[in-house]
Amino acid sequence: MVKTIKDDQPRTYFDCTKCPAFCCSIYERVQVTKRDITRLAKHFGVTFEVARRRFTKQWQDERILKKVKDTIFPETCIFLDQEKRGCTIYHARPGVCREYPDRSRCAYYDVLQFERRQQADETVIPLVQITFREVKKGPEVDDKCEKVWEWQPEKKR
Ligand code: SF4
Ligand code: SF4
Repeated sequence: MVKTIKDDQPRTYFDCTKCPAFCCSIYERVQVTKRDITRLAKHFGVTFEVARRRFTKQWQDERILKKVKDTIFPETCIFLDQEKRGCTIYHARPGVCREYPDRSRCAYYDVLQFERRQQADETVIPLVQITFREVKKGPEVDDKCEKVWEWQPEKKR
């Protein structure tokens, strides 16, 4: 079954127009599928092969969007307008971008809002870096410890 990618995920608690595009910048890769490259090719009026070569690169066993130097973060997506901090190919953007963050809250937006309130400065941009590591099984949680709840995937509306 082909998964339908919709553009209308609920953005109840975040506003991308007030964000410096953390998600387009701090992840080291934005994965693209053949379908995404086909969409890019159509958008730019070039062949699949040209779009593949011009806009994407190989990263391990994945095809990902190329990145460029950024004015705020060390790097950002090749398609980000660095002044307006918006996607220049919004209607042709890859599936992963359409789905992100796939819930009604965005953690980076929460950090942004928190810091802006703390600093009483609506222009402040906390620099966030994201790195991943493997977590080994930790000690057993005893009942006296505070419980930390993880977010569950939200039900689609
Ligand atoms: S980090 Fe969150 S608020 Fe910022 S552009 Fe991405 S989805 Fe929107
Ligand atoms: S394609 Fe657009 S939405 Fe996706 S990472 Fe690049 S600038 Fe952001």
